[in-house]
Amino acid sequence: MKITIASGKGGTGKTTIATSLALSLAAELTPPPLFLDCDVEAPNAHLFLKPTFEQRQDVGILIPRVDEAKCTHCGKCAEVCQYHAIAVLGTKTLVFPQLCHGCGSCTALCPEHAITEIPDVMGVVERGVTPEGISFARGVLDVGEPMAVPVIRQLKKWAVPQPGQVVVRDAPPGTSCPVVKVMRGADYVVLVTEPTPFGLHDLRLAVQVARELNIPVGVIINRDGSGDAGVDEFCAAVGLPVLLRNPFERAIAEGVAQGKNLVEIHPEYTAHFRQIFNQITTALS
Ligand code: SF4
Ligand code: SF4
Repeated sequence: MKITIASGKGGTGKTTIATSLALSLAAELTPPPLFLDCDVEAPNAHLFLKPTFEQRQDVGILIPRVDEAKCTHCGKCAEVCQYHAIAVLGTKTLVFPQLCHGCGSCTALCPEHAITEIPDVMGVVERGVTPEGISFARGVLDVGEPMAVPVIRQLKKWAVPQPGQVVVRDAPPGTSCPVVKVMRGADYVVLVTEPTPFGLHDLRLAVQVARELNIPVGVIINRDGSGDAGVDEFCAAVGLPVLLRNPFERAIAEGVAQGKNLVEIHPEYTAHFRQIFNQITTALS
């Protein structure tokens, strides 16, 4: 079973929920879960789960390099490129590596065979094990690199679960392409939100994405009691189960700021998260 933990906006406590769920299941499941930190622009789940990394692999794409001696500036490469990553300007054919998705179409269609492809490293994937036996893997996008999706794609391919192993994926915040990439293939999406108008706005968008992908959704409300009833009303109106409510509490905020997860701050949360897992299992059966 693959569970993606996501949130329409940053700062809702998504990673705290994802890591707490994985920790709560570690002693319950054999094998313990596989945790994927897919928030590749700002991965921080390792701070909560403290894995020892054992393997590392560069992630990159192949970008075109034009041999000006062979190029006739016919423009076919620019015509085929959906991303405007290659352009012919007079007698120059220019490649913009930061826009290139490495699809290879320009190379394949160049009538003069003037294009070769060179690897461009944009990040890494790493994996290891936590003290509780959770298999942990994460992607890290290099600073300044604009495209998270290739790193997420490689992470999902590289960190393959064992037969029967539950996968917990921590998605990036928002509802853009990287989030869609992380949600895709999940059996269930848990959306973490907070009871504010901003939280509700972003929750609506995230629910829309999950429903377009045909994935069932449950909601966790963090800082419950601190805002208004909009999120509750929305969940009731569209039939979304509220799996958990975390109160707006000083001890939780201070604990999280010190790198603790919910089950360390309040051990009784282990039972809450196991119950959430059972609810998800029942919903999928
Ligand atoms: S398709 Fe090939 S020959 Fe034509 S402009 Fe591009 S690189 Fe040059
Ligand atoms: S590899 Fe694909 S994305 Fe990159 S320049 Fe060529 S056609 Fe465009």
